[in-house]
Order: sequence, then structure tokens, then C-alpha cells
Amino acid sequence: MPFPPTPRLLPIPAAELQNSLLAWYDAHARDLPWRREPSLYRTVVSEIMLQQTQVSTVLPYFERWMAVFPDFKTLANASEDSVLKQWEGLGYYRRARNLHALAKVWTALSAAERPVTAADWLTMPGIGPYTAAAVASIALGDATAVVDGNVVRVLSRLVAERREFASSSAAVAAVRPIADALMAGCSRPGDLNQAVMELGAVVCRKGEPACLLCPWRQSCHARADGDAADLPRLKRAKSVARTVDRLLLQDAEERLLLRQVPEDSARLAGLWEIPEVAEVVAAGLLSLQEVSGAAQSFVQKRGIANERITEVFFVLKVTEPRASPSGWSWTDTRAQIDLALNGPHRKALTRLTEVPLPMSLGACLD
Ligand code: SF4
Repeated sequence: MPFPPTPRLLPIPAAELQNSLLAWYDAHARDLPWRREPSLYRTVVSEIMLQQTQVSTVLPYFERWMAVFPDFKTLANASEDSVLKQWEGLGYYRRARNLHALAKVWTALSAAERPVTAADWLTMPGIGPYTAAAVASIALGDATAVVDGNVVRVLSRLVAERREFASSSAAVAAVRPIADALMAGCSRPGDLNQAVMELGAVVCRKGEPACLLCPWRQSCHARADGDAADLPRLKRAKSVARTVDRLLLQDAEERLLLRQVPEDSARLAGLWEIPEVAEVVAAGLLSLQEVSGAAQSFVQKRGIANERITEVFFVLKVTEPRASPSGWSWTDTRAQIDLALNGPHRKALTRLTEVPLPMSLGACLD
């Protein structure tokens, strides 16, 4: 069967697709806290938390965040440590810093200067095209279509877009005209954006979609052609394996040595973690000979984007007092509870020390 060289735009008029999808959304939308009591602030926080993170993971963080930072002003006035602490375990910590910076900018602007449209929101810290469109449409009624992986999947199937894309950003660019055509003339842009995303999350899922439950089943080209599960077609990024040796050093007072990730680090800046063996040696805390006496305790694996990381944890007890250079700290159990720790390392500490430190909820992506 010859594949179409370019995507078809909508299979039926936009208004018909909007009406059937919005009726489905009104009847079936999940009851989520940021939908229950909508506000601009709650929309911003939820959209940033939901970047690359599942709804079920975000839910407890969102409720806890709102209890501590209920509005832009409270967040703007909070310390960075307290912001990172509330984010602990949610991963991709740059989002927390950006949200903090955004709150500061927002509170410094006058009402007339504050962003309204998606184009305005793009100027705010940490806001990309997807989040700008989501916030501006949901909270402020701006008719800009969102396009993310969910939307790419749903709309690619609707129009039977079968080209193979070299990257997700190429797929987003190809699907954007379809999303714009769907949005044209819509009186409920925020709901329409949420409805497409909801459809992708609960009906038109990765793999086999639940087409019988779909409000677009009569119009969907991929369903008619029987290849919806194969769309969209994206080239897979190669995964990279990496092994990191880490050392949990304990002193005579049973305190543990932790290191704070430097501010200029690309990832996890400001969080505390169990140091790498090489970092302990480079900081002059132990000689290579001393390190060779460490015992391997266990191995922990995790994935971040296309990286598969294996962390090998070693333990060693020292009896001589050791200094802690700037950015390092000997901490007891109490102090560890209060520190903003790298989420997987809090798990590792619990396992290594068999002390039930309180865990943050949810998946740890960083
Ligand atoms: Fe997705 Fe099936 Fe609906 Fe088409 S009919 S949009 S493939 S769920």
C-alpha cells in the first residue's frame, strides 16, 4: 500500500472532531486536583511537575507542594533548599529551580506586565512551547494547541501519518499543523488541549489503543487501516550503559559522608548524594590504598532518558577523624532526613544503613 508523502489534515471538519472529543472529555475526564480547583498557579505547578512524569507519580507531590507553597508569592519567598526538599524524589530537579525562578519573576511583574498568551509565557523561566501552550490555554483561554508525545500519537493515528521521524521534535513539528487545524475556531481551547492529552493517556495509548472507547473511532484513518498500534513511527535513540562506583564512608561516630552536587552541575545541582569513589579520592578524603579496603555492598540500576546507569555501592568505616571540605558533610541520621537528597540515594542510604529514613513518594527519575 503506498504511504502518503505528507500528512493529511483533518479527516472531517474540526468542529465535528472538537464536539465529539469535548463531549467525551466532559463525561470521562479524570478527577485530578489541578482540575478540581483550577487556578493559574495550580496549572503552572501541575504542568511543570507533569513534564516527563506520570500523573500517578505527581499526585502526592502536587498536594504536598500546595500545602507548603500555596501561591506564587509564598514560593517566590521560599529558600532554594526548601524548594528542592519538596521536590525530592520527583526527579529532573531543574524543573524545581525553574519554577522557583518563575515565581520570583511573576511576583516582580505588575498585573499589566504578566504573561497571557503562549508567546508571552515562552519568555518565563523554564517554559517551553508545550508548557506555554498548556498554561495559556488552560488557565487563560489562549487558543494555542499543545503538541507533545501524547498528542503526536493521537493525531498521527487520526490522520494515518506514516512517515518515520528521526526525532520526537521532528514528529512534533510535523504534527503541529494538524493540532492547529483541530484547534481552529474552538471556544474551549484549554479543555480541547486537555481532552487530546487525556485521550492519549487513557484510550489512544502506546501499543494497542482502545479504539472501541474512542470518540473519534468513526473518523480515524489508522483504525480503518488497522495499523494504529504501529504509529507514530519514530527512530529509537541508542541507549548508553554507564557504571558508577560510589562509596558510603562512615566515621567512628557512625556519621555518613555526603557530597552536595555543585551549583554549576547540569543535573541535580544543590542536591546531596553518596559520593563517587573517584570524588572521595580527588577531594583528599581517602588515599587509593584506603579505598581498596572498601567492601562492595550492593548494586542499584536505573534509567534516565537513554542512559542505563548501574551504581555499585561500596562501604568503608574509618576510625581517624576526617575533615569535610566545602560542599561535603558528615551527617547523622537526623541531618539526612532534613537534607534534599538525590531520590535513589535516599533509597540506597536506607538500604545501606538499614535505618528507615522517610522516603519521598513516587518514581525517582534522577
Ligand atoms: Fe487512537 Fe483508536 Fe481513537 Fe484512532 S480510533 S484516535 S487509533 S484510539
